[in-house]
Formats: sequence, C-alpha cells, structure tokens
Amino acid sequence: MKEKQANELMGYAPRDIISTLNVLRTLKKNKITLGEFVPWAKAYKKERELMIERRELISQAGKVTISCPKCKMPLQLTTINIPKGKQNVRGWKSLIFCISCTYESYSRHSANKVLKKLLRKNKKSQQEVSNGNCV
Ligand SMILES: [Zn+2]
Repeated sequence: MKEKQANELMGYAPRDIISTLNVLRTLKKNKITLGEFVPWAKAYKKERELMIERRELISQAGKVTISCPKCKMPLQLTTINIPKGKQNVRGWKSLIFCISCTYESYSRHSANKVLKKLLRKNKKSQQEVSNGNCV
C-alpha cells in the first residue's frame, strides 16, 4: 500500500477499521460481491435511519392522541410494505385506521411523513386552544 493510501485510511477510527474487517470477512465467507453489498448497505442504512426517526416520532406521538373523525376513538398508523403492483395498485405506503369503526385513510406518503404532519397539525390545534382561538 502506498503512503498516501495508508494516510487516508488512518483517518478512520480503529473501531471502524475493525468493523470493516469483520464485514469483509462476512462478505468473503458468504461469497457476496461488492456489487451486491453496496446497494444492500445503502438500503439498510436508510431503513435503519427511518426506523430511528420513526421511533423518535412515535415517542413524541405518545404524548398526543389523534382522534378518529367519525367516532373520536384514537387512531392507529401502520406502514404498508407491499410495493406498488398487483397487490398495491395505487402504491399506498401507509394507512391510518380506527379500531372501533370503519374509518380508513390510505396515503402515498411514508408513515413517518404522515406522523410528522399529524404532529404538526396537533401542535397547531393545541396552540389555537391555548390562545383561546378554538371554539
Ligand atoms: Zn372511528
């Protein structure tokens, strides 16, 4: 290895180098090519970040209740993991539903995006209440 290459690698923390060695060992053992690994790793990273974001949103959402417009019971939000196709013609990504009545609201936005929107809406309506603007 050339000195310039070694210097660039020395910019990584030892624990990152160790993790990389472990990943490379796993790739070699399972005969996984870099061409297979890189897209998977990018998707995995994105999925993990979305999961962490969702967890934070859910913890915020735990403090508020979004009520069913029909029966006023708390609504549930779920992710639709079926890709757009025969089983999901319109490409829905999330669903808000009521467990006590038939209310359903499908969305092409991710559950995270829907949750963010609901939290913003809820925050705004709470501000209106505290400002005395709500009837
Ligand atoms: Zn309902």
